[in-house]
Amino acid sequence: MTAIESSIETKYPVVRNYIAGEFVAGDDLPHMDVTNPADGSVISRVPFSAAGEVDRAVAAAKKAFPIWSGMPIKERVQVFFRYKALLERDIDSLSALVSEENGKIDSEARAEVLKSAELTEFACSLPQITAGEVLEVSRGVECRVERFPVGIVASITPFNFPNMVPNWTIPNAIALGNCMILKPSEMVPLSAGRIAELLREAGLPDGVLNIVHGGQLTVEAICDHPDIDGISFVGSTKVAKIVYRRGSSNLKRVLALGGAKNHLIVMPDAEPEMTSTNVVASMSGCAGQRCMAASVMMAVGKTDHIIERMVNIMKSMVPGKNLGPVISLAAKQRIESYITEAEKMGAKVLVDGRGCVVPGRENGYYVGPTLIDYVTPEMRIAQEEVFGPVMVVIRAKDADDALRVQQRSHYGNAASVFTESGGVARYVMENASAGMVGVNVGVPVPREPFGFGGWNESKFGVGDITGRGSIEFWTKSKKMTTKWNKEAGVNWMS
Ligand code: NAD
Repeated sequence: MTAIESSIETKYPVVRNYIAGEFVAGDDLPHMDVTNPADGSVISRVPFSAAGEVDRAVAAAKKAFPIWSGMPIKERVQVFFRYKALLERDIDSLSALVSEENGKIDSEARAEVLKSAELTEFACSLPQITAGEVLEVSRGVECRVERFPVGIVASITPFNFPNMVPNWTIPNAIALGNCMILKPSEMVPLSAGRIAELLREAGLPDGVLNIVHGGQLTVEAICDHPDIDGISFVGSTKVAKIVYRRGSSNLKRVLALGGAKNHLIVMPDAEPEMTSTNVVASMSGCAGQRCMAASVMMAVGKTDHIIERMVNIMKSMVPGKNLGPVISLAAKQRIESYITEAEKMGAKVLVDGRGCVVPGRENGYYVGPTLIDYVTPEMRIAQEEVFGPVMVVIRAKDADDALRVQQRSHYGNAASVFTESGGVARYVMENASAGMVGVNVGVPVPREPFGFGGWNESKFGVGDITGRGSIEFWTKSKKMTTKWNKEAGVNWMS
């Protein structure tokens, strides 16, 4: 990291924090290059904020909170009706920006922005979903439950969905009356600024959303800040544990989503065409950098005919065209070292994505699709999150054998089974140790109103980060008991 004075000319201006409705210069802060992973070019520079910037953002949020939280929810969601329309209006430029900072191919970037619009649509329905409950609990005595915002909340996000993951939290948390500090990934800080601009255009009052850029120190300042009441985190399990422990030891509510190692169980009766295309799409979409990406295929019994099809599909893929790069040179090197280690331990590399170079983009961080057979459950590549377009095949004799491997994973984000048998499908869905399971679906992402969230070391905290499951996290309930009729008399509850 260097001081801003040494910055070179970049396509985008230096990224700025967004506080109280203004983009503020942080020239005195250390800065880091933001690169386009597709060609390694430096496209901007991002500041690394410290406790002072977090303080200023929290002060702005606190100032905005009384008016924003005091508005009826039906008025607050009007901002999000307009915001959704703006996301759709600007989908071309928003998705182009996602592609530039993250490397995603165009169709994947567009899908990400469309998903942001869908998440916003859910937030627009919150007035209907959060309508309170009321009951006459004894003669003339009424109990009602109403929801109130938690207060000042923070959302810390990862590099793999620069537009969508911030939109997992912003619309719901803010529509429910909270004011927010967003801390985007320093690898992909540009989309967050566009989100702020669109929300401002949609009429969000200044200070309701603030953005503080940075890394570890910034996150630590958020975890320690006495006026931040809740923190949501999405990223690796290593950091999720740090944030969960530090935030909750400071008595904040924390929901921290971590990494993943997702197993697909392929039964011998699985429909070959559908299975092979779905499995490859799951492991290679977004260059394997999805927390829902399949990374282990449990091949049960005679499944060679499906593996052969997967080899053919992978060999027909064209990096740079229908497969994007991984996020950084360090990520490329890490992924390739996993492959090399597995090969040394006796696994068979059927399709090898190491050393991938895209003509014209020689400085891009590409890893070709990779399929490795005869991996054993003890190998590091079978247990750790690789986060690249790499699929390992572990052979299993039956569904129980396959499930045992899945259940031993520390993670528990997603699992799927490919089969034509309803009985086997139900058995796997019941017994897989994961929060999101699928049948004949490679990426079993639940859509709203269902919540997104895994089990085990893929999620720390209660509730889900999206959908109905997030309402409890972003609000606190108040139980109100009233009696207006004097004739109701006095009893033990009076
Ligand atoms: P990461 O954990 O490195 O970073 C996430 C955030 O934490 C970033 O904003 C980063 O600045 C901050 N951070 C990094 N190191 C820190 C530290 N030591 N202390 C405090 N803060 C720190 O994750 P990433 O590499 O950006 O994203 C990829 C990871 O995110 C993968 O593990 C993936 O599975 C996971 N992910 C999970 C989900 C989910 O829903 N479970 C969704 C998307 C991504």
